[in-house]
Amino acid sequence: MDLTFTEPETAFRDELRAWLADNHPGEEPAGEDAEAYQWRRDFQRRLAEGGWAAVHWPVEYGGRGATLTQSAIFFEELARAKAPLPANVLGLLLAGPTIMAYGTEEQKDRFLAPIVTAEEIWCQGFSEPEAGSDLASLKTRAVKDGEDWVVTGQKVWTSGAQYSKWCMLVARSDTEAPKHKGLTYFLMDMEQEAVQVRPLRQITGEDEFNELFIEEARIPEQNVLGGVGNGWKVALTTLMNERAGLAFFLQVRLRQVLDEVFAEADGRGLLEDPVIADRLGDLHLKAEVLRLTAYRGLTAIERYGQPGPEGSLTKWMWSETNQQLTQFAADVLGTQALTAGDRWSYELLRARGNTIEGGTTEILKNIVAERVLGLPKAR
Ligand SMILES: Cc1cc2nc3c(=O)[nH]c(=O)nc-3n(C[C@H](O)[C@H](O)[C@H](O)COP(=O)(O)OP(=O)(O)OC[C@H]3O[C@@H](n4cnc5c(N)ncnc54)[C@H](O)[C@@H]3O)c2cc1C
Repeated sequence: MDLTFTEPETAFRDELRAWLADNHPGEEPAGEDAEAYQWRRDFQRRLAEGGWAAVHWPVEYGGRGATLTQSAIFFEELARAKAPLPANVLGLLLAGPTIMAYGTEEQKDRFLAPIVTAEEIWCQGFSEPEAGSDLASLKTRAVKDGEDWVVTGQKVWTSGAQYSKWCMLVARSDTEAPKHKGLTYFLMDMEQEAVQVRPLRQITGEDEFNELFIEEARIPEQNVLGGVGNGWKVALTTLMNERAGLAFFLQVRLRQVLDEVFAEADGRGLLEDPVIADRLGDLHLKAEVLRLTAYRGLTAIERYGQPGPEGSLTKWMWSETNQQLTQFAADVLGTQALTAGDRWSYELLRARGNTIEGGTTEILKNIVAERVLGLPKAR
């Protein structure tokens, strides 16, 4: 693992830093969620105009053809500048790369460009009330009717569905086949009467995710991605991209929050308190290990061409450390951190979902146990 940047990498970072300094979107607007979302969407448009929205995509699809290290630099710099993630993050990190891997030329022509400009937002319709960790047991049905597929079922926890034009939808197209083999991956148009989006209010007070009620939605055959019956394979590509993309953004954000809590503790004269000092030291150590493990994951992809188990390890470590950090912040700040609407109460409450979203900690531990340590399978 070599942690020094090459000359082109340093040039890339400096160019991006200068661009972000000139084009920073400013503070997130307070108030309605929809307003904040529009602010992120406008910021993505600006990123796209500057050629920065999809740095890791090939140039032919509107990207910058960045290397993995440059892509990591992009997310690090975004976090360092305290700029938001682009609004269409699921389109850029999940839908786009999956369409590039499995899409026909027509699908690439139709779907990729509006992802980059945030003209068409994407959501991920995988989880169902009885299928989360065990995704392959999902029940949403797809039945062929002429040139269309007719889809009926329910999805849940669908982040950003209320803003989305398209959904990455996995449904059961063959009830006779073994459960992993009867699935198909569809690109579903959300703008139809048959798709109802109902927001779910989270502990933070935001409606970040939704329930989707799908009652005979129609999806044309040309919106099947990767072939009928191949849904499991295509979905795994989406899930692999989910863990690989954000590690650098998240580890820099964690470091920033830790620095802020350090300053708060210092301002309150708490650094001499051995218990506080001990917890700060522990969090500092974990933030540093996280940074180095994110780079180790990058080295593995560069060397072997695919993400190693580090993706599961960093997600597990980051989510637990972020929960410890936000709890620690509440201990340092006292009752202020428990006031509704306070930034620190938001951080504390939002962190609860970290160990669930994008794969629960228990599932990640199973992956590390089986694939890294070679322990016997849990089931
Ligand atoms: C903020 C947030 C955003 C999300 N956004 C989306 C989205 O946009 N699209 C989408 O499709 N989904 C989304 N999800 C859903 C997320 O992927 C699921 O919640 C997650 O996969 C877990 O599934 P589940 O909730 O059904 O829990 P379950 O799978 O029912 O798990 C319940 C509990 O059992 C444990 N468990 C389950 N299986 C095992 C096992 N084999 N070994 C050990 N323990 C096990 C789990 O760890 C968990 O503690 C989001 C979730 C959150 C919190």
